[in-house]
Amino acid sequence: MSYTFAACSNCHSVNRIQREKAPQAMCGKCKSKINFHGLVSEVNTDDFHKILRHSDKPVIVDFWASWCGPCKMYGPEFEKASLQNDKAVFLKVNTETEQALSGSLAIRGIPCTIIFKDGKEIKRQAGALNSDGVNSLLSSI
Ligand SMILES: [Zn+2]
Repeated sequence: MSYTFAACSNCHSVNRIQREKAPQAMCGKCKSKINFHGLVSEVNTDDFHKILRHSDKPVIVDFWASWCGPCKMYGPEFEKASLQNDKAVFLKVNTETEQALSGSLAIRGIPCTIIFKDGKEIKRQAGALNSDGVNSLLSSI
């Protein structure tokens, strides 16, 4: 069964969710609806670290901000790739609200895509991509 991980925006538990059930997914703990963009889950810093610890798959993260034009173009492509690719868990992190995390990862420009495996960064790509670009980034790991 193909699955992903997402954090509940209400109680912040990490949920393991079957991909095909993602549109109707509810948090196992508090029963709130889990919010997905495609199969991308938006997370804060704590949830990001929790998912990195839980996931046995690579985790690919779109670091973005609302003021960033290229990020707006990239968002839908990243979502499209999340629906096409079950090799990784897809997350997005808002660099405006999660500044300390962005700083600790030394993110200089956005959008910035980083792939983590076993909690460690293994690949980084600066700039907007299309969905094919995201898929080939994942094929390269
Ligand atoms: Zn919850």
